[in-house]
Amino acid sequence: MKKEEIEKLVLQEIVKTENKIEKYEEMTAPVAPDNAYGRVSRMDAIHNKSLTEMVLRQSKEKLVMLKHVLTQIDSPDFGKCIKCNAEIPIQRIIVKPESMLCVNCAR
Ligand SMILES: [Zn+2]
Repeated sequence: MKKEEIEKLVLQEIVKTENKIEKYEEMTAPVAPDNAYGRVSRMDAIHNKSLTEMVLRQSKEKLVMLKHVLTQIDSPDFGKCIKCNAEIPIQRIIVKPESMLCVNCAR
């Protein structure tokens, strides 16, 4: 796979992740004390909010990793498993940018 194609894929994922973060940030805005949630109770709203906050945090971590990946594309070791040196598919790198291991070694 060409470097430009990898770069494009990583950039697409960065944009996707940024959009997600924006959406989650809106969702984690302070819970209104009134009945704005209709049939969903305020307790449920608070519970959902903490779940969303967790996903938001994960998305932010992923964004940092994706940006790091972007700086590594030029490296000769880019996309290689740190354990067995096998090539890691770009699809895996995008989904799990924090993983420096191939599927076999990650097991
Ligand atoms: Zn490996």
